[in-house]
Amino acid sequence: MSNLRVDGARLWSTLMETAAFGRTAKGGLCRLALSPEDAAVRRWFVEACEAIGCAVTIDQLGNIFARRTGSDPDLPPIAIGSHLDTQPTGGRFDGILGVLAGLEVLRTLEDADVVTRHPLEVVNWTNEEGARFAPAMLCAGVFAGAFDLDYALSREDRNGVSFAAALAESGFDGTAPVGGRPLAAHFELHIEQGPVLEAEGLEIGVVSGVQGIRWFDVEIAGLACHAGTMPMKLRRDALQAAARLAVAIDEIGRSDPDTSLSTIGIFEAYPGSRNTVPETIRMSVDLRHPRAEGLDRLEAAFHAAAEEIAAALSVTIEIKPVWSSPPVVFHPEVVGAIDAATAQLGYSRRSIVSGAGHDSVYISRVAPTGMIFVPCEDGISHNETENIMPIEAERGANVLLQAVLQFDSAA
Ligand SMILES: [Zn+2]
Repeated sequence: MSNLRVDGARLWSTLMETAAFGRTAKGGLCRLALSPEDAAVRRWFVEACEAIGCAVTIDQLGNIFARRTGSDPDLPPIAIGSHLDTQPTGGRFDGILGVLAGLEVLRTLEDADVVTRHPLEVVNWTNEEGARFAPAMLCAGVFAGAFDLDYALSREDRNGVSFAAALAESGFDGTAPVGGRPLAAHFELHIEQGPVLEAEGLEIGVVSGVQGIRWFDVEIAGLACHAGTMPMKLRRDALQAAARLAVAIDEIGRSDPDTSLSTIGIFEAYPGSRNTVPETIRMSVDLRHPRAEGLDRLEAAFHAAAEEIAAALSVTIEIKPVWSSPPVVFHPEVVGAIDAATAQLGYSRRSIVSGAGHDSVYISRVAPTGMIFVPCEDGISHNETENIMPIEAERGANVLLQAVLQFDSAA
């Protein structure tokens, strides 16, 4: 079985064939969750799975599970999951590669007449992107108990259409309960969506986990006064404090460039008049690190810098936490199976932390989980030009196949 390989040409042709559902003029995809385009690719996926004898189950959030029977009926399934929905100007591979590579794994096993011990389930998780219904990773989140079913069903898109209404319209309003059943493991193949693997000339990323994120709103309060009459030494200029804080936050991120990231995405000055010293600055801060203690260290440095600057420039700096997503460490057995499979296949690899969220973030709360990354061109994703080479898709799917087989025989 260690000699078994996927059919790379077949995998590529399914990627190209399904890219017709929601294709944009620039060659990308617009396949918002539960849109007619999403419903079309879902019907294609169900048909393809049924054609190789899978039993397809759809739960109350439209998550699709295509199950191939194993030899031991007492074992829970090994899941291979990702998402078929996209950003409004999305690419052809983000999420889609993981689902269609799962299908390719099942097709390969079917062709070779291999029966695994565990049942295998290829999963399409609904609304991973969060582009139509916020938040992202919504339905994997409900499966894992992070959100309630009713919370998901009541989400509304920009036009006031509820998730429940869109789901019914799509025809994928299934009846199976969401979650509440064991998975032996969850494997997800995904494009890296960043530049690291390509820059290092590596073929596979063995994902060790997903970095944690903390968001803050910052308000700096000084005093508005006349730009022509108030001496510099008497000013309480909120913008000058914000400028120093911006530099400090950048330095905090650069203090450990392999792991730490710090970003100010929003920066607004009031009252916004040419001859008035700014009184108020509102800015956002985004801190990321793969470990909780690392996030604590970044946050402590951020607070210390704010205090020092506030005292030096006679302003007040208020820091309000608005969101926190804890770091995820993937399961050693699943990560180990992926690493061993990659080594056995002879692909170059490195351990890598995911910078983006994925369905696997939530599923890791209820099942041993791991992810495989393949490089994408220039690290570009969430973009219509998102691109990978056929050989990269094939390598990722081979790792997926062999890792699942290793886990199946070892677990
Ligand atoms: Zn994705």
